[in-house]
Amino acid sequence: MMYDLARTERIHRAIADETAPMSHERKACACGTQVTARQLAQHGKCEHCRLTAGLEEGDLDKLRHMLGAAGNSSAKPGFRNHYLCGVQDRAAMERLVGAGLAVPGEALLASQYYHATRDGCRAAGLDRSGIARALEAVL
Ligand SMILES: [Zn+2]
Repeated sequence: MMYDLARTERIHRAIADETAPMSHERKACACGTQVTARQLAQHGKCEHCRLTAGLEEGDLDKLRHMLGAAGNSSAKPGFRNHYLCGVQDRAAMERLVGAGLAVPGEALLASQYYHATRDGCRAAGLDRSGIARALEAVL
């Protein structure tokens, strides 16, 4: 029997692939959050960093306030999903809209309602039931 060097190399390569990092292996995002190695390879950052990229300081607080998830309330996060915005908060709301975290709603005189999207709820840290409440609260 002939010794086939190429074939042996293929087998070794297959074994090496099996020892490659598994997708469920945990790695740290730059923010310190532990995510799967697969998510980090795919997006380069955790979901929170991905969703909130492009926001400025205080924008996330306004999003949490929009969702009743500001932390000082005894009500369940997501019980509300609106933010009546005047001139002074308009830029923050437009950054949230640009990031896909909020959508403009009805206009009221010189003010404008904004509502969080599903991604906005995630960025604000709401869990599954909080997201369901918040999306229901818009209707
Ligand atoms: Zn992160």
